[in-house]
Amino acid sequence: MIYADYNATAPCTPEHLAKVTELILQKDGNPSSIHYQGRRAKVALESARKSVAWHFSAEPSEIIFMSGATEVNNFILQGTACHHFFPDCQETSKASVSHFIVSAGEHPSVFATCEFLKKRNQVHLEVAPLLTSGEICLKQLLPLISDKTSLVSLIYVNNETGIMSNLQEIVVQIRKKSPTCHIHIDAVQAFGKIDMRWMGPSGVDSAVVSGHKVGALKGIAALYLKKSVRLGTIIVGGGQERGRRAGTENMPGIFSLGLRSDDLRDNSEVMARLGRLWKTLWDNLSTISGVSLHGDPTCSTKNTVNFHMSGIQGEILMLKLDAAGIAVSTGSACSSGTPKPSHVLKSMGFSDFESANSIRISLGASTTEDDIQEIVRVIRTVADQRKAV
Ligand code: PMP
Repeated sequence: MIYADYNATAPCTPEHLAKVTELILQKDGNPSSIHYQGRRAKVALESARKSVAWHFSAEPSEIIFMSGATEVNNFILQGTACHHFFPDCQETSKASVSHFIVSAGEHPSVFATCEFLKKRNQVHLEVAPLLTSGEICLKQLLPLISDKTSLVSLIYVNNETGIMSNLQEIVVQIRKKSPTCHIHIDAVQAFGKIDMRWMGPSGVDSAVVSGHKVGALKGIAALYLKKSVRLGTIIVGGGQERGRRAGTENMPGIFSLGLRSDDLRDNSEVMARLGRLWKTLWDNLSTISGVSLHGDPTCSTKNTVNFHMSGIQGEILMLKLDAAGIAVSTGSACSSGTPKPSHVLKSMGFSDFESANSIRISLGASTTEDDIQEIVRVIRTVADQRKAV
């Protein structure tokens, strides 16, 4: 079996699971308890927080653990749109309709939250398009920003295409136009691939990473929230996570994310190896007749290839690869099963057919040179069979 769907989830290694299990067994208390077992768990919790904070050049108190990036994106967007409802905020005079700007490349967890808020007349939404390269178009984003804008939410690396935008520069430009709007970064697919330590000292207000995209357990994410930001909470209860996210902490998930955060401090060797494999894959696929690769390879994070094959449905191609023991995705895994064209590819200028029939191959730590050769061989065979029909 060849696993090439790392953007959907990066499997845990047995070594990682063994380390997590050891921590669970050793630090099994409730970190809110004040007895010895509780204090011991609390120390381990704070140590994991510190490990994540390093990646943002943030203070540990600026890291909040939540159940997933979907929850974080809901928290930031709903919290910003509704924060005048929350008791710890005095701004009752704030207009009830907030102006939000997002890029066309955002994950469904951002778009669906915007739609949810739009239906309740809480948000006026504007969408900044993507360039054909797959990057966020700064030229079209900037004119949308005004002194009424409350939030700009941008994806760092797109989950479907692997294309990275130059957010360091984009954030500087946004800040020049709006010193106050909340800037949120969905860094889920960037974590472990790109150095994000520029964020802490920058104009970024919040960012999110998710454990299961980097080989940690599923159901854990970390929010970086700048300490100056005032936001309410959407889950109230026992006051955990400094009142931002009530509920007993998911300690197995937090241990796991903390451990992976330590591993990922220097991931350059893995990324260099992946870069070579990715280049072989890209170069080989581009020689297959009927295959069109999407996005500008110079902006890619070098683990993802997104393409379509003319005359064949994406779902069929994916199933043929599956039958050959190769796991890939049609477009974004989150929208698998829906034949809708990808909003990301549409914004990059692809046709309905191209946007609805793309395949995403995403590589990770377990990928080998032999895997790449086999993936290319199977895709070439499908292309040849398609021509023969
Ligand atoms: N944002 C991006 C860019 C993603 O790729 C994903 C996962 N597909 C999410 C958000 C949601 O993450 P989670 O699975 O942790 O809810």
